[in-house]
Amino acid sequence: MPKQDLAADLGGDDTLMSRLSLDLTSDSSTSLIDMLDLLPMGVQIDDLDHRTLYVNDKFTEMLGYTLDDIADLEDWFLQAYPNPAERAAIRADWQARLAHAAATQTEIPTIERTLTCKNGEAKVIEFYVRRIGNHYIYLNTDVSARHNDAAELRLLAYTDPLTNVSNRRHFFEIAEPLTAMIGQPLAALMFDLDHFKALNDQHGHRIGDEVLAEVAARCRAVLRSTDHIARLGGEEFGILLPNCSRANAAEIAERLRRVVAATPASSRSGDVSVTISIGGVSVARTPVDIDTLMSQADRALYAAKRAGRNQIQFFDGLDPDSK
Ligand code: GH3
Ligand code: MG
Ligand code: MG
Repeated sequence: MPKQDLAADLGGDDTLMSRLSLDLTSDSSTSLIDMLDLLPMGVQIDDLDHRTLYVNDKFTEMLGYTLDDIADLEDWFLQAYPNPAERAAIRADWQARLAHAAATQTEIPTIERTLTCKNGEAKVIEFYVRRIGNHYIYLNTDVSARHNDAAELRLLAYTDPLTNVSNRRHFFEIAEPLTAMIGQPLAALMFDLDHFKALNDQHGHRIGDEVLAEVAARCRAVLRSTDHIARLGGEEFGILLPNCSRANAAEIAERLRRVVAATPASSRSGDVSVTISIGGVSVARTPVDIDTLMSQADRALYAAKRAGRNQIQFFDGLDPDSK
């Protein structure tokens, strides 16, 4: 690479450089390039035509690509973003960022991108980019671990540990955009295990826990992939059925009732029979207030309990006195 040009851009202050005894134009061991190879982050240097002049050792260690793999920015895009649609979007975004930074005389904000390494592995890389004189300097840091940790924590924060379905908090977060949509049919179900206190008393709390997890798993298995089931608390669950008519919701509710009642749950102390009561509500067109929707499902559930359990009631089918 043209070391002298680069030295001029990166060295800047000759006095400082000589004070540091750095001879940037020589091939002596204490060169700037040797120093760049020691950095704990990936370094890439391009000229203003986006031809890649240099990548340091850490860059190759992190991403697998050597200078031979990347002649210019387009080469980089082709390999790091193999999906053509994604590549086009990233290229456009990058050009817009460069143009904006140049037009406003501002720096390009740090970017995070998920890209493909030479061995096909996906990594989340943080790019810090600066134009210095006639060069673009990229500093790249692998932040994949931070991302995996964050995704794991997020999942934990939203999952009920006993049943592995969503928790109450996640249920209401999912409900927000669904209930705010305009003109979509939406149904909600609420169900509660019947005589669960007696089941606990007879078999013990631990068996009760197993039954609870089994019921949740069975119900989740018969739902559509677009439906959302959550444990709202204790032995009570909520289900959001987007884009679901009243008739469809009644069918799904019957499927849930049956899948629980049909065969006893198998536990460490043998088979345990259990049933659920279900309350349902549906609106033909959103938007709808989630609290109203859930309180109507709750009243329908209460009616199903009073009517003898192991059954379904819909809010619109309740007699006016119990509404
Ligand atoms: P109903 O048919 O009217 O719903 O009767 P029920 O006995 O199920 O209702 P009740 O509200 O009287 O009792 C609910 C029971 O659920 C009491 C509580 O100990 C049990 N329960 C709530 N959460 C859990 C849990 O996480 N594990 C276990 N094993 N039991 C739970
Ligand atoms: Mg109960
Ligand atoms: Mg209950």
